[in-house]
Amino acid sequence: TVAEEYPSSAALFDGSFAVRQEEEIERLKELEQAFAREEFCIYLQPKYRQRDGHAEVAGAEALVRWVHPGRGLVPPGEFIPLCERTGLIRQLDLLVFEKVCLLLKRWAEQGLAEVPVSVNVSRQHMKTAHFLDSYRDILQRTGVDAHRLELELTENVLFTTREIGEARDLIERIHQLGMHCSLDDFGAGYSSLGLLKDLPVDTLKLDRQFFADSLHSPRSQAVVRSILSLARALEIESVAEGIEEEGQAAFLWEAGCDLIQGYLYAPPLPTAAFESLLPPANN
Ligand code: C2E
Ligand code: MG
Ligand code: MG
Ligand code: MG
Repeated sequence: TVAEEYPSSAALFDGSFAVRQEEEIERLKELEQAFAREEFCIYLQPKYRQRDGHAEVAGAEALVRWVHPGRGLVPPGEFIPLCERTGLIRQLDLLVFEKVCLLLKRWAEQGLAEVPVSVNVSRQHMKTAHFLDSYRDILQRTGVDAHRLELELTENVLFTTREIGEARDLIERIHQLGMHCSLDDFGAGYSSLGLLKDLPVDTLKLDRQFFADSLHSPRSQAVVRSILSLARALEIESVAEGIEEEGQAAFLWEAGCDLIQGYLYAPPLPTAAFESLLPPANN
């Protein structure tokens, strides 16, 4: 309803804004408790590459989950917006990043394959001053090999950055820390191929909106093909997200997509389940 979309105008007519505010405060209390009780964990969704005709695990994306005492596993879509409105997102992103660093350390010690892991960074968080300092601190404190980490920035973030130069600086600073940088949800908003000219990202994640028609139409096939070939020409790694069907994967492998991430191969998994998919190192 309009009232839900415009709470401040609704407040002129009834008390719904006040009610919503109360609800928000309740939810915020619950969320703060979740931080205090350490109720967040990470799931890892494998990214696959094609080798010798079969798909093998080549990396993962870390996705946060809230293990709620009453509601079970809560997906990020249900609490990240509130985190973003209240500034808690910074704490959340750093918590996830640190968990991933510790995990990579443990894999190295246990002799598991050193696959890279990507971590999402919220736009609200990225806009804050010196936001990379905390990442540098965590890298130093955990002593992890930064080359195995990738920060996923959404295209949206970069697009609204006032100067494209700011976005470029940011990516360069991520590189200086030794990490890789990917452009997430490419194609979900007002993507511009011009971004690829100006931004030295390492990886392009094609949003699943590209595959909404299962790649049945020649038009969407042509668009995906040309983006993949552009990525290749720019030496940018390509990842297709949200792949659910065999036919989509067959098309993407044939079109030269580097990595596929989607329910077809695996959903986000608890870390132990992901580890069981990893081959030993130097295999
Ligand atoms: P994202 O970064 O684009 O992550 C991919 C989302 O697509 C994940 O949803 C994943 O579970 C889902 N997905 C993967 N394969 C498929 C598929 O085949 N079909 C469908 N329908 N969906 C698929 P999830 O885990 O619910 O996360 C949603 C979003 O929440 C993420 O989108 C990301 O923007 C955000 N997010 C997750 N973890 C974090 C975090 O630690 N920090 C921040 N700032 N954002 C996070
Ligand atoms: Mg992502
Ligand atoms: Mg994405
Ligand atoms: Mg997405």
